[in-house]
Amino acid sequence: DTEKVLLASRFCVAWESIGAAIAGYETALAYAKQRKQFGMPLAAFQLIQYRLSRMLADITDMLCMQLRLSQLLDEGEYSMPRVALAKMHHTERARAILADARDMLGGNGILLDYHVARHLCDIEAIDTYEGTDTVQALIVGRDITGYSAFVPVAPSH
Ligand SMILES: Cc1cc2nc3c(=O)[nH]c(=O)nc-3n(C[C@H](O)[C@H](O)[C@H](O)COP(=O)(O)OP(=O)(O)OC[C@H]3O[C@@H](n4cnc5c(N)ncnc54)[C@H](O)[C@@H]3O)c2cc1C
Repeated sequence: DTEKVLLASRFCVAWESIGAAIAGYETALAYAKQRKQFGMPLAAFQLIQYRLSRMLADITDMLCMQLRLSQLLDEGEYSMPRVALAKMHHTERARAILADARDMLGGNGILLDYHVARHLCDIEAIDTYEGTDTVQALIVGRDITGYSAFVPVAPSH
């Protein structure tokens, strides 16, 4: 039925976000190692290392959450709010990682040759299809509060 199809597709889209985020991180890391500014590779600068470390922490976080979700799926123990939580979280983090990665490539980040701009466009589509960030949050919010906030009540007059 529709619920089962949406559950499976949102689960897959959550994995897609992780793939896009990893591509952004790997591209930024490789670029930082080869691009020299002020006589040193970008990778040697503290602020660049901080940004790469934050990306890696986010990706590790996403992978752990998604691995647990996959285990629950195998056990037949997974629900729409859990999948919505993962989809919301991963796409939000992946968008941030890819925007940062694009910036770390400077002007080259805009070019298709380095692929990061392509992944950045992809994550915008991934963020929207199978339900936007907001809609996933509404699914989670309904589950944790008991109130459905999808449809506002129109004023009576
Ligand atoms: C690349 C791509 C491929 C797609 N492929 C398919 C496909 O194969 N099959 C398919 O059926 N669909 C597909 N879609 C459609 C996709 O699922 C929808 O675009 C998506 O669910 C958002 O719906 P919408 O465009 O109607 O936006 P809307 O629902 O109009 O949302 C517009 C904005 O309002 C917000 N919003 C909506 N409802 C609420 C609410 N209750 N409270 C607060 N904010 C709200 C949203 O978060 C969003 O920011 C695809 C979309 C894209 C971009």
